[in-house]
Amino acid sequence: MKPGIHPEFFVAPVKCACGAEVFDTYSTQKEIKVEVCSQCHPFYTGKQRSIAREGQVEKFRQRYAKEGKK
Ligand SMILES: [Zn+2]
Repeated sequence: MKPGIHPEFFVAPVKCACGAEVFDTYSTQKEIKVEVCSQCHPFYTGKQRSIAREGQVEKFRQRYAKEGKK
């Protein structure tokens, strides 16, 4: 395949803001981020922590924005 013609596809890990890698999928993005997964959702953990999560998600995004500039 010639570069630039075809879209790039990756097997992309779906990563949650809590740090868990939830599952892999097939995507044009290198990775997919979700803010809540089955491991950290209050429904599953029994904890309510939506207030704390705002800042954590922002940190997570900044961290990966830097790494993406390689
Ligand atoms: Zn999670």
